[in-house]
Amino acid sequence: MTNFNDFGLAEPILRALAEEKYETPTPIQAQTIPAAMKGRDIVGIAQTGTGKTASFALPILNHIVNYRMRPSQKAARVLVLSPTRELSGQIADSFRTYGRHIRPLTVELAIGGVPINRQSRGMARGAEVLVATPGRLLDLVQQRSVVLDQVEILVLDEADRMLDMGFIRDIRKIVQMLPQKRQTLFFSATMPKEITQLAESMLKDPERVSVTPESTTVERIAQRVILTEKSAKPGLLVEVIKSETIDRVLVFTRTKHGADKVVRQLESSGLPAAAIHGNKSQNQRERVLAQFRDGSLRILIATDIAARGIDVDGITHVVNYDLPNIPESYVHRIGRTARAGRDGVAISFCDHEENGFLRDIERTIRIKIPSEDRRTGRSAGRSEPAPHHHANGRNGGGNRRGGNGQNRGRNGGQGHGQGHGEQRPQRAKGHGGNANGGHQNGQRNGGRPATAAAGGHHGGGEDIGGMKFMQRGPNRPRNHAPR
Ligand code: AMP
Repeated sequence: MTNFNDFGLAEPILRALAEEKYETPTPIQAQTIPAAMKGRDIVGIAQTGTGKTASFALPILNHIVNYRMRPSQKAARVLVLSPTRELSGQIADSFRTYGRHIRPLTVELAIGGVPINRQSRGMARGAEVLVATPGRLLDLVQQRSVVLDQVEILVLDEADRMLDMGFIRDIRKIVQMLPQKRQTLFFSATMPKEITQLAESMLKDPERVSVTPESTTVERIAQRVILTEKSAKPGLLVEVIKSETIDRVLVFTRTKHGADKVVRQLESSGLPAAAIHGNKSQNQRERVLAQFRDGSLRILIATDIAARGIDVDGITHVVNYDLPNIPESYVHRIGRTARAGRDGVAISFCDHEENGFLRDIERTIRIKIPSEDRRTGRSAGRSEPAPHHHANGRNGGGNRRGGNGQNRGRNGGQGHGQGHGEQRPQRAKGHGGNANGGHQNGQRNGGRPATAAAGGHHGGGEDIGGMKFMQRGPNRPRNHAPR
């Protein structure tokens, strides 16, 4: 399918897509939409950024147009479960966008961090689509504000993340309340054993679809490391922000506290900034994100969890104020820039304590990131060898995650816990569906910046977050900036 008109979607939906300037379905959409329109269950391996939201929202809206009926009081015809408030909000927005010419269409959101009463009132007359995080949904069911026995279509989004966040029991509970006869669309970036089991228990003869995100984006990210003292990071950040040509910069810190501190430091230097993390109210977060999107806020500080699922185009720079202790998180962070065909810059600050993290990251991505040494004193000069590692292994340095203790609690709400334990990488399996793979750029990168090489069919690489990282090519120059 190369055109949305080929799917046989209803006219109001096509009109909205045309207004959104969507012309060509993405690979996940091309695979998912026809099968879902036939009523098939789906198990989809896809990440945010692949267009997966529309891949389920469009056939669902089409079903709503074709089978018009008034939802009963407190009932939802479609239930979408997602792990975080941000992702849920974005999904609801997508339904409203693609469904803007369908009337009536009620899309309700049930997420933690905002008063429950408004959500109860919202559901009083029922809704076509209810997008929810599992904990808040169960609270609403418990207080008899929502009934689930009329759900015709269930979507489970980012199932692997649900597992990490400790939602699997809640999900099983919710599924038990749903009618047996329903359509289920199940999406996950990875399929670990527990997720496969969950899918098997929920799906009937599913159509399997899988894609990896376009990897060309990674090629366009210029990566740099600045070796620094911890105490010099605030000044360095101000300097970087002032010296780079920045449209939008996303600054990552490891902790919520760290994020707030960075905001204060920047503001005292005359750089307006805001943070999003689990301690912020939903309203605050939405306001900040809207400002970041519309360009009135240029500097956003985020923790890994808070940034998940946020899809903002036009982020020119990602700064890792703290390096993540999990290499895959690094890949996900830098993937926030260079979207929609643009270039991006990723600058990482690395203090003494983070040297090991940097080594792991370089081993995993198989690139020695050009670095600039701004450290003072005798410890300057990082001398470890270039990370030649596991020519063919899928496990190059990526096995540290076990140590960081996964948080399986409910976090007292919806996806707003922020401890180290939540930071689990998403790892897309290589499914070869790499639309733009093919050319290896192992010979670029004469000096700086490093760009992660993307390739679709060369062996020996490792897929992380759907991005293919290749081994250093034999001819690749290694004249990096001095360490
Ligand atoms: P998702 O993976 O659902 O988070 O979507 C990623 C981004 O791609 C969103 O900003 C969508 O609006 C956009 N998008 C999804 N499908 C298409 C399409 N077929 N053409 C253009 N943009 C799209």
